[in-house]
Amino acid sequence: MTAVFDPVHLQAALLDAVAASFAPPALLLQRQQQRLLRLLDAAREGSALYRERLPRAGAGAADWTRVPHVTRGELMGRWDEWVADPALRLDELRDFSRQAARVGEPWQGRYMVWESSGTSGQPGVFVQDARALAVYDALEAVRHRPPGPGAGRLFGPFAALQAMVGADRTALVTATGGHFASIVSFERLRRLNPWVAAQARSFSLLQPVAALVAALNDFQPTVIATYPTAAALLAEEAEAGRLRVRPRCVMTGGETLGPAVRARIQQALGATVRGSYGASEFLPIAWECAHGRLHVNEDWVILEPVDERHRPVPPGQAGHGVLLTNLANRVQPLIRYELGDHVTLHAGRCACGSALPVIEVRGRRDDVLRVPGRRRGQSVSLLPLALCTVVEEECGLFDFQLLQRDARTLVLRVPLRGDAAAAAIDRCRGALQHFAAAQGAGPIRVLGEAGCDVPRGRSGKACRVMPGVNV
Ligand SMILES: [Zn+2]
Repeated sequence: MTAVFDPVHLQAALLDAVAASFAPPALLLQRQQQRLLRLLDAAREGSALYRERLPRAGAGAADWTRVPHVTRGELMGRWDEWVADPALRLDELRDFSRQAARVGEPWQGRYMVWESSGTSGQPGVFVQDARALAVYDALEAVRHRPPGPGAGRLFGPFAALQAMVGADRTALVTATGGHFASIVSFERLRRLNPWVAAQARSFSLLQPVAALVAALNDFQPTVIATYPTAAALLAEEAEAGRLRVRPRCVMTGGETLGPAVRARIQQALGATVRGSYGASEFLPIAWECAHGRLHVNEDWVILEPVDERHRPVPPGQAGHGVLLTNLANRVQPLIRYELGDHVTLHAGRCACGSALPVIEVRGRRDDVLRVPGRRRGQSVSLLPLALCTVVEEECGLFDFQLLQRDARTLVLRVPLRGDAAAAAIDRCRGALQHFAAAQGAGPIRVLGEAGCDVPRGRSGKACRVMPGVNV
């Protein structure tokens, strides 16, 4: 079997994830700190870059907060000094990532490799060994899984694989041509087990909608995993009577899921919707519980919301960015690594009983639109999630793109045509101007363009809010 898989580590990680899911917070923290110390030791030993940045072995916890944060650009620029295995050569991995036919193939028989979409600057290349993958598999299988039957099957050599699909027919709807984390992980599971392969299929989001709908009608999935914007598109196809599937669950990730989109997917597809938060740097960062809240897998990943100057922000307050530490990957250590997402960490426990902390995610900071404020010299930030919510909830429009043409002008592009487009643009114009004024912005113009498709990036994510673009 040519796949990166370690059944012993998977079994251990599964048992641990089950036990930790409802452990007291103090015990979770203790587990996290033990793993952190092991990660720091491994990074000092294997990574020349971290050897010069980390405090000496045996330093206290107080020194942890003084470890300088690190950016993707810095790590990618010093690749050879960063990774703990000299056999990992960036030029070879980049070459491998350009070969679409090799998606899901192991690298050197030992590693899974994926690239990030590069929506925020330089694309990253991420390498995982069997130990790290066992942790991701276990977290997906135990915590982030469709509700319903199958939970009793967690313990066996292919436990995670079976638990992840159970008796379901799972459709992954995403960009299938590139080496992105979701499709690489999915193809890996299919390679591991022919039984999974028969029950789980990927569908390209970049093909014509009619072809995608026909393929899904043929497959009849019971679980669909995709981006929220793609799920909204499927909801529209179901409402129009073209998509005829009845999934029991729609699992979303990759983009922020707004309440109006969630309600629409639930209604049109008759499915439970479960969101998640993940990144190429750590796939299963947080999962949504039955109470609709996102729980961080803090036994395996540390998230630290920080302000503009990388100082920690208190619970309940949104960070300007967030520092991520991956406790599972020792081949390519990620310690206090900067992600550009607005994350709020909440202090209280969730009513579902999990001790894992609750977070809220409000999209990437790179997508924030800046417009002049009412006072001279002042600028106001408009968050992409808030702008999308205004358009979705107040105007009932789910397929659109919002661009910034100049400081005071936004352009709303919609695929609709004729009177329908004019009416939708009119509704949104008023709502967006009202929203911007409520945020303290000066007057803005909102122009409309009909008959435009919403573009998607290479990874299939919709480019819905584009700041500072000249069109
Ligand atoms: Zn909960």
